[in-house]
Amino acid sequence: MKLVFLGPPGAGKGTQAEETCKSFSLTHISTGDILRKAVADGSDVGLEAKKYMEEGDLVPDSIIVGLAADRMSEDDCAEGFILDGFPRTIVQAQALDEELQNSGSRLDLVIYFETSEDVIIRRLTGRRICRKCGANYHIETMKPRVEGVCDRCGGEIYQRSDDKLGTIKKRVKVYHEETDSLIEYYRERDILAEVDGDEAVSELAVVLEGMLSVR
Ligand code: AMP
Repeated sequence: MKLVFLGPPGAGKGTQAEETCKSFSLTHISTGDILRKAVADGSDVGLEAKKYMEEGDLVPDSIIVGLAADRMSEDDCAEGFILDGFPRTIVQAQALDEELQNSGSRLDLVIYFETSEDVIIRRLTGRRICRKCGANYHIETMKPRVEGVCDRCGGEIYQRSDDKLGTIKKRVKVYHEETDSLIEYYRERDILAEVDGDEAVSELAVVLEGMLSVR
């Protein structure tokens, strides 16, 4: 199964993608995670991407399309994947269609997480991440057992620099300007399904499991 999780930052795409990948043996591809690793490694791509990410802007299509294509061509993606945070522009969506077509494949489903702005702000301002394994926490709803320490790998938990209120608002604005149009793009292709991104993590996980297990 080849899926896209589409929706604004803070919709819960990453959290749900992790669960869904476990249940259906898929690979989670988060372009945000790939970019954060490139930044941490200090690679050329990372150095270029950093300035856009810190401002809450999108990294140029010319960079991200190649990164996503390379990741999708790795062995662990052969059985299927969930794209989380990609595509984010029409140009990226068209490049993805082309990439899949060239390998004789196509997307099975795009799941749009419709999410209200106050939920986005609450989730993102309280979000904390493990620096080592990328696990997600929240200062109110998903605390680690020991403060500041990842339950899963013992790594340090930190707040992403783009999860500050000003940058969050900018990212949401950029999302509406650049990514909203993908809802229509995929609806026209008849592969769009919608879920309620405001729902609690555990409830939405059940909805997704039900939706995907009949496919
Ligand atoms: P995310 O973790 O998905 O919220 O992504 C964090 C940041 O990485 C975004 O605010 C963008 O700067 C950049 N980014 C991630 N995915 C993409 C993409 N598909 N296109 C452009 N920029 C991206």
